[in-house]
Amino acid sequence: MVSYQARLTIDLKAVVHNWASIDRFAGGAEVGAVVKANAYGLGMDKVVRALHSAGCRTFYVANLSEGIALKGLGFVDSHVVVLQGCYCGEESLFLEYGLKPVLVSEEMLLRWVRAVQASGLSNPGSYLKVDTGMNRLGLRPADFSRVLEEGSMLKAAGVEVLMSHLACADEPSSPMNQSQLKRFVDCVRRVKAVLPEVKACLSNSEGVKLGAEYHFDILRPGIALYGGCLGLPEMPIKNVVSLSAPVVQIKELSRGDAVGYGAEFVASSPLLSAVVAVGYADGVLRSWSPRGRAWFGDCLQVLGRVSMDSVVLDISSLDPDQTPRVGDYVELVGDHATLLDFADSAGTITYEVLTRLGDRLKRNYLNEVDFAIG
Ligand SMILES: *Cc1c(COP(=O)(O)O)cnc(C)c1O
Repeated sequence: MVSYQARLTIDLKAVVHNWASIDRFAGGAEVGAVVKANAYGLGMDKVVRALHSAGCRTFYVANLSEGIALKGLGFVDSHVVVLQGCYCGEESLFLEYGLKPVLVSEEMLLRWVRAVQASGLSNPGSYLKVDTGMNRLGLRPADFSRVLEEGSMLKAAGVEVLMSHLACADEPSSPMNQSQLKRFVDCVRRVKAVLPEVKACLSNSEGVKLGAEYHFDILRPGIALYGGCLGLPEMPIKNVVSLSAPVVQIKELSRGDAVGYGAEFVASSPLLSAVVAVGYADGVLRSWSPRGRAWFGDCLQVLGRVSMDSVVLDISSLDPDQTPRVGDYVELVGDHATLLDFADSAGTITYEVLTRLGDRLKRNYLNEVDFAIG
């Protein structure tokens, strides 16, 4: 079917490349994959299949229903870890599906132990999360100390991994990184006195880039897999997504003509414009309007506000024989107009851009089955 519809192209080989790139950089540490929020909007089933065939065996989701969905894909050899933990009433489903909760409070730990003991089912294992300064989920130092005194609790809970999360990993010079690292190292040392086999897991994508002392035993990158952050020379990260949209009308504007809602843009000289069929319903945020740029052989500026279903671009700078025609696709995100620039122009982060990509976009997966690590 011919359709003048915006397209989202997702290159699964690039996702695998990024995972393998982190895996090489990580040396001996295991590299898992954070696939919460439908793999940051890109399709959890497709992403997990690709990463599993590349060798990834630990997947992180946000909550119980994401965990059940992942288990439904049937990868019995993989660990599924639920980052938000197990809440009251959810315990039997965690046990039934073999999901590993991240235990984030003393109350959750005790409740989990009781549920495991009452169920008679085998314990799928768990993570214990300490709060090293972000003050989000995790045990505070006093709770952590109390829990350590009851070492048998940690054994009964099947704690396999001690985890924490960095607040400022994307700012390498922030003193928070060193301070959280120091606290985490101390927590790992103390847990090992009780559970000598316990593993440690601290870093997300940006934490990986901080270097080997932040790696520990397991890494849990998300955004880097999806091309949403810069790599390092020794850990290249490839672009994964492209967003392009068709031109649906070309217009010659005269001096004084206004464009779009609020008549915010007014032409100060004659220009050629292209109406493109993509808008905020597709995830192109309205806040992108003032600084927004697209690409068609050259950089094209947005005129006026983003609408629900359309955006207007200034195509006057293009040579007449190189202007797009109706049906040609312009790139909003891709190799020229990068995801990082797109997010920055909209005043937000790549995470928010990816997780807001709309259902209406025609999703096109590249290298779905036939990819090799390269
Ligand atoms: C989302 C999340 C991650 C992944 O972070 P990225 O910055 O996307 O690599 C890791 N750990 C926790 C606890 C998370 O919530």
